[in-house]
Amino acid sequence: MQTQTKSSKELIQEKWNKRPLIIGGPCSAETEEQVFETATRLAQTGKVDVLRAGIWKPRTKPGMFEGIGTKGLTWLSHAKKITGLPVTVEVATAKHVEDALHFDVDMLWVGARTTVNPFSVQEVADALRGVDIPVLIKNPINPDLELWSGGIERLQKVGLNQVGMIHRGFSSYGNTEFRNAPMWHLPIEMKRRFPDMPLICDPSHICGNRHMLQSVAQKSIDLDFDGVMIESHVDPDNAWSDAKQQVTPERLAEILDGLVWRKENTDAAEFVTALAKLREQINHLDDELMTILGQRMKVADKIGQYKKDNNITILQTNRWNEILEKAFVKGDKLGLSKEFITRYFDAIHLESINRQNKIMNS
Ligand code: PEP
Ligand code: MN
Repeated sequence: MQTQTKSSKELIQEKWNKRPLIIGGPCSAETEEQVFETATRLAQTGKVDVLRAGIWKPRTKPGMFEGIGTKGLTWLSHAKKITGLPVTVEVATAKHVEDALHFDVDMLWVGARTTVNPFSVQEVADALRGVDIPVLIKNPINPDLELWSGGIERLQKVGLNQVGMIHRGFSSYGNTEFRNAPMWHLPIEMKRRFPDMPLICDPSHICGNRHMLQSVAQKSIDLDFDGVMIESHVDPDNAWSDAKQQVTPERLAEILDGLVWRKENTDAAEFVTALAKLREQINHLDDELMTILGQRMKVADKIGQYKKDNNITILQTNRWNEILEKAFVKGDKLGLSKEFITRYFDAIHLESINRQNKIMNS
């Protein structure tokens, strides 16, 4: 009996529209067995929609594993035949695009190190002119939304009409708890700019470890992301790239099971999403307030130094009254009570005085 099978094109269409969209697979394709076993075990979970694997790896230092290259595409195409999972790879050059299309890769993504470079994004876009394939574009490594938007526009301009975004966090100097800081207000702003475009979270590259994957994935869901891309390897500890952040297919299934897709009750889901977005705004504003307060104190320090050099007292009552009076007037317009303004400015004033006192007596 002949069974009706979906064409690759129909299948990837279906996945593109599915919510949540779950992409899983190794950071890199390493060997035929590794690709095949990972794909099979991911398919067995029944929870993964698209199989990912890096074929060409942009690495920070030369001498690191830079990807298996084009021959890995034959392994992926084999894995796709056996498991029925559509496949996706990262492309950074016209040659990558050509090879990926030659081996019927179903979906492409542009990596963070490529999005930063308009020449490269344009090269990839030009190679895709007239091609009908979904393309996801990761945020650039640095927190620059114009660069991310620009990359999207370059892809759209060559006629691609299935373009999506992947949020993989932003690089920052020094040790933080994340490998790449999520800066959630940035993908939220992208969602505002491109409301109908799928937005996928990549907790693997945000975390750089295994233990935070679940909470970062959950956070993205609460912010109404459309899916996740999580790296999975049959032997994570011995992976040739990104060993620390990869999880086995079975562990990935557990993580996915633990996620709460708050969709059962639409009202509740909207409420939770709206709340998470608002909280993110608050976090962002609080962050800015702290930065500005820090700047204000530095200026106060300078004044302290100046007063010391010129032998002037720290407290000049008139000046302070003037500041307060102005703040009351402005606060009134902004709906801030006199009591709040007084307490707020008292706290700032006290801190300023303490710091200037230190400087005067140093
Ligand atoms: C990857 O997905 O393996 C990768 C290289 O990610 P990014 O472009 O986010 O660094
Ligand atoms: Mn990786």
